[in-house]
Amino acid sequence: MPETHPVPALPERLLLGPGPSNVPERVRRAQGAPMIGHLDPAFLAVLEEAKAALAELFGTRNRFTLPLSATGSAGMEACLVNLLEPGDRVVVGVHGVFGSRMCEVARRAGADVTAVEAPFGQALDPDAMREAIRAIKPRAVAFVHAETSTGVLQPVEEIAAAACDADALVILDCVTSLGGVSVALDEWGIDAAYSGTQKCLSCPPGLSPVSFSERALERVRARSHPVQSWYLDVTLLDGYYATGKRVYHHTAPISAILGLAEGLRIVLEEGLDARAQRHREAAGRLIAELEPLGFEPLVAEALRLPPLTTLRLPRAVTSRGEADVRARLLLHHGIEVGGGLGPLAGSIWRVGLMGENAHPECVDRLVTALREELT
Ligand code: PLP
Repeated sequence: MPETHPVPALPERLLLGPGPSNVPERVRRAQGAPMIGHLDPAFLAVLEEAKAALAELFGTRNRFTLPLSATGSAGMEACLVNLLEPGDRVVVGVHGVFGSRMCEVARRAGADVTAVEAPFGQALDPDAMREAIRAIKPRAVAFVHAETSTGVLQPVEEIAAAACDADALVILDCVTSLGGVSVALDEWGIDAAYSGTQKCLSCPPGLSPVSFSERALERVRARSHPVQSWYLDVTLLDGYYATGKRVYHHTAPISAILGLAEGLRIVLEEGLDARAQRHREAAGRLIAELEPLGFEPLVAEALRLPPLTTLRLPRAVTSRGEADVRARLLLHHGIEVGGGLGPLAGSIWRVGLMGENAHPECVDRLVTALREELT
């Protein structure tokens, strides 16, 4: 028998930042199951179950819906590098850090990028997007549904319809919306979307659920240049993940997928509507409790993203140094909250109530800790 070593203990944290969120015991147990082969029929049955559950969460009948073996950024990269060829025009809506990242990835794929910007904390203007789409006639239109850097939940339908009228493909970032907010890819006319596992699905980071429509897959098959990323080439991935094919491409991260499948069972047991409602209630409670302490929501009520609330900070926090207050929350109370990103660094906090953590007890723990620190 090999010698056993104790695993070094990590502190327990309540993760109320922009992700990861806490992982339920059921997922941790599933992820710790004994190893099994990636082509074993018992594993493939779980993979198929996870694919079907992801399609349900994404609101799609897309056959190509699966967990990519990498984090959300790889999902972004997969959508852009497969659907854009060098010289292709793309319109990207930028209303936060992740929209800017989409521009950078598209540029590196050789695309001709037009960014349509909105101030951080506001939504994209559908008229400005429509105008750019009409003028540029892009191959694709890309934007972020749930901007984790600002806490804005972007309305999708008008922009997607404008793209559809111009026969452009639509790419949507659902990293912080999937499993916490309603997502309806087919109804909205989205061709490619990606997410992450560490947010509203309450699984560890490491996988990126993605979904491509048949139209998007046809576009990839019709490319004149091969996709420059071998690893993220969806035609190769399709050969591996498609039911009945299983042509070896890479070794799927088996444990992570077992964990994800359990996380998705938990989501579907609760039901998507009930889960979205729970996220709305938790965010509402957070704002109601923190406003009397001087925190002000950054985003107008109609555009707020329930899984991630952004708050302007009161003097009681800024005068103590916002990063110091966050450090005290972590070290003295075991609670993580996020600071601002990009131009919002230093002036806001980002409080995530995602998946497991969208519960009144989590809000109350944070409020109690903050009262202690600020009085
Ligand atoms: N897109 C959005 C909206 C995100 O919030 C994130 C991560 O926070 C990403 C993309 C990148 O995901 P990851 O950090 O899992 O690579």
